[in-house]
Amino acid sequence: MNPVLHIEPLQNWIPVVKRPLIISGPCGAETREQLLKTAAELAELNAVHVFRAGIWKPRTRPNSFEGAGRAGLKWLREVKEKYGYLTAVEVANAKHVEQALKEGVDILWIGARTTGNPFSVQEIADVLRGSGVAVMVKNPIHPDLQLWIGALERVNQAGINRIIAVHRGFYTHVPQIYRNPPHWEIPIELKTYFPDIPIICDPSHICGNRELLPEISQKALDLNFDGLMLEAHFDPDRALSDSQQQLKPKDLGHLLSNLVVRSSDCKSTEFTGTLSLLRKKVDQVDEEIIHSLAQRMELIDKIGDYKKENNLTVLQLERWLEILRTRSAFASSKSVDSEFIQKIFQLIHKESIRRQTLLMQEGVEK
Ligand code: PEP
Ligand code: MN
Repeated sequence: MNPVLHIEPLQNWIPVVKRPLIISGPCGAETREQLLKTAAELAELNAVHVFRAGIWKPRTRPNSFEGAGRAGLKWLREVKEKYGYLTAVEVANAKHVEQALKEGVDILWIGARTTGNPFSVQEIADVLRGSGVAVMVKNPIHPDLQLWIGALERVNQAGINRIIAVHRGFYTHVPQIYRNPPHWEIPIELKTYFPDIPIICDPSHICGNRELLPEISQKALDLNFDGLMLEAHFDPDRALSDSQQQLKPKDLGHLLSNLVVRSSDCKSTEFTGTLSLLRKKVDQVDEEIIHSLAQRMELIDKIGDYKKENNLTVLQLERWLEILRTRSAFASSKSVDSEFIQKIFQLIHKESIRRQTLLMQEGVEK
């Protein structure tokens, strides 16, 4: 059975006139001066709806800056009163939730390290009950959609309906350009489970540097995310955490003004004709793909029968290597990415082997 979440639409509780919702503020609250100065510069942009600040920072190694703690909550209250922002902080245990609620924080977020631990999420959910506060749930560090869904369910089952999912990328041990590669297919799959869940992207933690932020932010909008969370600091180079990825407020302003917000509404007459025509063609091509796959599987079964009768192994390595080579070359000649085709054929081959292995086992005494 598909899980169900009871979600209150975003527009009911955050007055954002136009998509996207923008959340910004420093990675961590460091000093009162830093928080107020960053908030003042962000306020000048007139584009930020929610002010974020980590009050308790989950650091990978000890003896790093771990946030200002309780004092930071007071500074955040000042920011809220002075600039009228909604405020957001990360919570990782029951004590954090109690203190944040006491200081009038509007939105609590469960960080990536916490989402991965069902005990912590449940502890948080238990103290959230009855508070009516809004909660953002970041994806877990590892690309495990079920853990993300589980955390959303725990929060929702505690009676919290104001929920936002936050996509912040996923850990990888392979060095590459992103600090946490996005694996867009995972948040997209989350949306297929819960079409109504508001989802925002956190390009700062995906990129880990300032240079890639515009590209990831635009991609998120093109995938119809509801908003962005981007870290900002009045003096990023001297930030006590995540200094490489935080933006000066005025640079955030440039980034935001260069974003193109495209419409996800295909219902206007301008689009319906062209789009539906093209989609009908795509439907037809997809049917042909499935038809061809069915034909291929029939042939695979015949080959399987033949291998069984003649005592041949299911896997014939040379033939497999030849398939990979010829199919990628053909794909390239058709301007289709050869790596993409290799991935598809790896899947097809896996399925073919599964079918032939089943055939081999049929009628064999265990
Ligand atoms: C953060 O938002 O500063 C943070 C710690 O993020 P994450 O939990 O995504 O690593
Ligand atoms: Mn951070």
